Amino acid sequence: MVLVVKQYRCTHSASCLCLKGHISEDALFLVFRHMNWNPRMIALFSCVSKWFDDIAKRVLWKEFCHARAPRMMQDLHSGGSHIVDGNWKALGKLLIHCVGCTKGGLFGNIHVPGHFVFRTRFSRTCGKSILPPQCRTDVLYVSDPCEHLDQGEEGDLGFFRGIFKSFASSKVKKMLIEKQAKFHPKEVCPYCKAKLWNLLQANMIPRSASIRLDAYDDSVEYYICLNGHILGLCTLMPVSDSEDAKEYWVKDVE
Ligand SMILES: [Zn+2]
Ligand SMILES: [Zn+2]
Ligand SMILES: [Zn+2]
Repeated sequence: MVLVVKQYRCTHSASCLCLKGHISEDALFLVFRHMNWNPRMIALFSCVSKWFDDIAKRVLWKEFCHARAPRMMQDLHSGGSHIVDGNWKALGKLLIHCVGCTKGGLFGNIHVPGHFVFRTRFSRTCGKSILPPQCRTDVLYVSDPCEHLDQGEEGDLGFFRGIFKSFASSKVKKMLIEKQAKFHPKEVCPYCKAKLWNLLQANMIPRSASIRLDAYDDSVEYYICLNGHILGLCTLMPVSDSEDAKEYWVKDVE
């Protein structure tokens, strides 16, 4: 393996820092593997030049996703399904970033700043419970709600996010098209910039969604983008009212 600088002409813009030739891709791979695919470093590195950005999109974010969620990635790739190169970055961000929302954006007047999340559980069971009954053969991974408690009048909010396997051929997409659901007029997916469908508006959110998320009935709202990313919001019930808490309490007493 050649670790020295490889001299070949940069095909990027004049402002690209790699005008003097590129370091070998293999060397970069090793450096980032050593940093355990640190997402902040990958993000910083992609700002340096177009060439670095290309590698980050094609290689580094992909390795990041596989390292952080190996089983989920394996499932997302099984049965002939795959994630296209350009979407690894979006998926990497989705794994570790709760986007919150801005006032006047996707969720009305609610304003919650986005933030990185140290650890998130994504589950297929949760995905099923937020899909219409006719679409439950679709595979959707959804995160546990990220809790933003005591948001004034809004109460306790839970943001969730997720990704479809093979969204292009999913039943949900077919149903959205059949229903002639409209895209959000101005907002786009915060992960990949694609247009978004509002599932609440399309009347496609089942009651099982609020039960599964421990949220108030009819408080669940979510969007799906053209690349199959989802982002949603719900109002969480106080912990003491939820079924989980009761179960836990019973166990605790035993
Ligand atoms: Zn360049
Ligand atoms: Zn959050
Ligand atoms: Zn998206």
